[in-house]
Amino acid sequence: MNLIEISNNFPTELEAVKYFEQFRWGKNPACPYCGSLSIGDRNKDLRFHCKDCFKSFSVTTNTNLHNTRLPLKSWLYAFGVISDAKKGISAKQLERNLGIHYETAWTMYHKIRDLMAIENDGIRLDNIVEMDTTTIDMSIRKCQVELKGTPKSIPKLDKEIEKYKGQFKFKEGDYKKPCKTGKQKTGGYASNLSVGGVVEREGNVIAHVIQNTSFAEMKKLIDDHVKKSRKETVLLTDEGRGFVRMDNIINHIVIEHKKLYSYRGLNTNTIESFWAIVDRQIKGQHHHVDIEYLEKYVAEVVFKFNNRKNDDMFETLVKLSMQ
Ligand SMILES: [Zn+2]
Repeated sequence: MNLIEISNNFPTELEAVKYFEQFRWGKNPACPYCGSLSIGDRNKDLRFHCKDCFKSFSVTTNTNLHNTRLPLKSWLYAFGVISDAKKGISAKQLERNLGIHYETAWTMYHKIRDLMAIENDGIRLDNIVEMDTTTIDMSIRKCQVELKGTPKSIPKLDKEIEKYKGQFKFKEGDYKKPCKTGKQKTGGYASNLSVGGVVEREGNVIAHVIQNTSFAEMKKLIDDHVKKSRKETVLLTDEGRGFVRMDNIINHIVIEHKKLYSYRGLNTNTIESFWAIVDRQIKGQHHHVDIEYLEKYVAEVVFKFNNRKNDDMFETLVKLSMQ
């Protein structure tokens, strides 16, 4: 729903409340305290009254919007503005769009990022998945050159491809090597700005702020978001230290970036493209990323990536708010 539609569909707070009610209860409101369906008519303040336990409640009682003091119309506008902005917007812009105080806009935006994180938490990945880490302030991208012609055979990786033949199909693509002059310069940024991510090829992504790039942190990402069944999943990573012991818990192929970036469909290009999006969106909106809120910013990029084909991100946010 765009802003004009929101304005037309919800001329008063009552229409907005009814819209949220649909997603929470359908036609018949139920008491969030005792479950009773014996509910009186909506009061003037738009709250209901339970005829069994005599408590009053609103559509937001015990949901993710519990205790909000803002009109639900404002929430609908915020959902509209934020789901419309593919690359995210600033709280400042939300303040202008909604005509509310900056602090309110800022709090709403973070609340909406929390809703996005709820969906992200449920993501499970399988098939061909790529994993990598990044630092948000990385100033110079890793450099890759594409080589023409057939690459010289790399027996170690040929063996890996053979091993999974018939189970996973690596779409063969470019053969890439590091640039000769492609020195990786990442600057002296704090390691606590690291983000770890896993993506399923042509599927969803998950990413979280990590304390460091150790195996323990990497394993946690895998445990929380990746199906480890050796029948279902193969993991591709570079030779990073945190990935060394992955072989013990999941099918795992290492692409040594010191030697090459892509070979017969073995690469981590999908997660690296995602890092480029993270970089652009977070740096584009926030000149100084506060470590405390980085996880929330990342959650928004993840949610938007996973909903890139969803025509109604607005409705998805309304549903999440009513959980
Ligand atoms: Zn009740």
